[in-house]
Amino acid sequence: FRWEKNMDNKCQFFREIPLEECFIDKEPYYVPVGNEVEVFMAAYKNRLPVILKGPTGCGKTRFMEYMAYRLKRPLITVACHEDLTATDLVGRFLIKGESIEWSDGPLTKAVKSGAICYLDEVVEARKDTIVVIHPLTDDRRIIPVDKLGVIMKAPDGFMLAVSYNPGYQSVVKDLKQSTRQRFISIDFDYPPADLEVQIVAHESGIGQEMAKYLVEIGSRIRNFKHHGLEEGVSTRLLIYAGKLIREGIEPAKACQIAMVRPITDNPDLQVSLDEIISAIM
Ligand code: ADP
Repeated sequence: FRWEKNMDNKCQFFREIPLEECFIDKEPYYVPVGNEVEVFMAAYKNRLPVILKGPTGCGKTRFMEYMAYRLKRPLITVACHEDLTATDLVGRFLIKGESIEWSDGPLTKAVKSGAICYLDEVVEARKDTIVVIHPLTDDRRIIPVDKLGVIMKAPDGFMLAVSYNPGYQSVVKDLKQSTRQRFISIDFDYPPADLEVQIVAHESGIGQEMAKYLVEIGSRIRNFKHHGLEEGVSTRLLIYAGKLIREGIEPAKACQIAMVRPITDNPDLQVSLDEIISAIM
């Protein structure tokens, strides 16, 4: 890690991740839920960009890691946020001591190295930032790097994938049709109960029986989605509950801490969800 100054004279904490670190050499644990693996393979072969659509914590990131492993490509992930600029993605000149050096942004780096670039929660990025991905998502597969005065063409290995949670959709934060219609879309959701039991048991290290209870509670909590809950409880949170239980936390308490308190601050809703837990645990 080092401190760098960019040309706007703003300091930023900066660490360029070496490309070798972006390769995934151990097969990530991923349980396919439908034909998403085949669809992604077909998209990759045909150089089609992909949107992974689904709620938070349902396996999108794990899927990307698995696909990058299968395709033997480096995976460069960018967590999008509202301050993310086109320059952050493409690259900038940095002052290093006495000299000025160019530093590739993650998107340019992915293009140069034929990596898979995954823009997580793409709607969080500003609209003018999202526009820089447009020329990469059609036949041209190019990225104009204005500051260097060059246009880079993506090699065959390059692929762009973005994730998007339709649950948070609002007029302000939504993908424009001109962006959406450049991608094929793979839908993700919480895995069906039998698979979720396997996943929770594997990832948290608890037994199948306890995992079954957690998944049952999870599915009942998810039924509250249209009754006050903004979003159902994620597979990720079920795994957290399992991890707490494995460490000796009392199961009902672990469920409250990991599956109820994080998803709602509404005291009435918390009481109702706690009742589900005590009915099952
Ligand atoms: P997202 O990117 O959708 O927010 P993640 O990929 O981080 O969610 O998923 C959260 C966790 O749930 C993962 O770390 C993994 O442990 C587990 N998980 C979810 N779905 C699967 C799956 N199909 N196979 C294996 N693990 C999964």
